[in-house]
Amino acid sequence: MQRKTNNFSNILLQENPIDILRRSFMGGRIAQTYLFAGKQSVGRMAVAKAFAALLQCKNPIKDENGKLDSCGICDDCKRIFNDSHPDVRYITPSGNEIKIEQIRDLQNMAILKPSMGAWQIFIIDPAEKLNLSSSNALLKTLEEAPAHSLFILLASDTGAVLPTILSRSEIVRFNTPSHQQVRQILQEKYSMSPEAAAACYALSEGNFGQSLTMASDYEYEPEVTSIKRSHTNYLLQMQMFSQNIEDDFSSVNTLEDALKKAWQLQSITYQPLLEARKALCRSLFMNTGFPKAFPLLFSQEIINTIDSAGASIKKSLDPLLSENKKSYPSAVLKDIETQIATATTKWGSDQLEKLFLCLMNWYTDALLAASNADESLLLNLDRKEDIITVAKVEGFALLKSRIEMLEKSINLLKRYIQPLLILENVITQIGGAEA
Ligand SMILES: [Zn+2]
Repeated sequence: MQRKTNNFSNILLQENPIDILRRSFMGGRIAQTYLFAGKQSVGRMAVAKAFAALLQCKNPIKDENGKLDSCGICDDCKRIFNDSHPDVRYITPSGNEIKIEQIRDLQNMAILKPSMGAWQIFIIDPAEKLNLSSSNALLKTLEEAPAHSLFILLASDTGAVLPTILSRSEIVRFNTPSHQQVRQILQEKYSMSPEAAAACYALSEGNFGQSLTMASDYEYEPEVTSIKRSHTNYLLQMQMFSQNIEDDFSSVNTLEDALKKAWQLQSITYQPLLEARKALCRSLFMNTGFPKAFPLLFSQEIINTIDSAGASIKKSLDPLLSENKKSYPSAVLKDIETQIATATTKWGSDQLEKLFLCLMNWYTDALLAASNADESLLLNLDRKEDIITVAKVEGFALLKSRIEMLEKSINLLKRYIQPLLILENVITQIGGAEA
């Protein structure tokens, strides 16, 4: 099932927020500022685009259930789908935050009449990335906004949004679907077997949107690998990923595009790497007792591979940078270079964090099993037997301490403590000195 339009009817498991928006549209009670609050990847952006389409659509229709929706075929609808509507704009972080210059640009555009639709719509994602000065500038814009402008802010942590902005917004809360709901959807909408649906969802580490993206061409292979093979394969897939990105980057023509791509690195889904990571963490989780030298060698190879992948990705943009040496002021060029370096380094540290999160999800499942929780709560439901086995061997207290140790390690990573030491410590700990 491919999403071909921005209709509400294509969005899964978010009936409540959609109903709120439909009702405000039909009742002519459209708020000028909405804040969509909900976890990442539950469909906030899809709903924002569908709402923008409903607002701009020339011929809204009733769907098969008699519910109002955009038509999906008029010029406005098509352009919103392709992200090319002149009156629907996206404000996303430039580098690590949304800067005041971006909000000033928004301010200037918000006062203009819409050029094609009925509204000037601004989607700010994520609102947590507004810094103090851009937050205050936005607040001023919201206070003085002309009647034809509309703002949709996306946030997963409303606590990180300026309270004065929150109080000006109509807050629309999004549901967090349960594991079971997502697996059910994957089976129904993509005709997957229960095992395949469970495996595909587990691969996304509980990320609903990502599991939907992967579902259309997911192939289920219930293979079991040894720790050595899964380690080798993970390193290999990391190199393959970096090769793909380097090829992609070598075809980029402008520095602006290069920068955009660098910042998008973290959100790329490369399924073979996800599968390799899942298999590696599973074999670590299943293993009791590693040879003495293993943790250090294992960790070194992983860190080296991630580092060199990041470095080659960065290097693939070097020709473009030197080509542009003459056409950009050196300060601008320097800034772009620094940002690219930051983005690729961030990608590298993210890989390690994702590895820890994946491992933590295995132990969380085992802890659930050790507490006799309902099996539908397991993330890695396709590996139920493994989870039960580990739960029996390790027991509640040990599993709990492993999860705490992983949480601590993730916090250390975020503070840029030596990644090699952190990884080596994790592997040593779970390798079990008691084995
Ligand atoms: Zn339309």
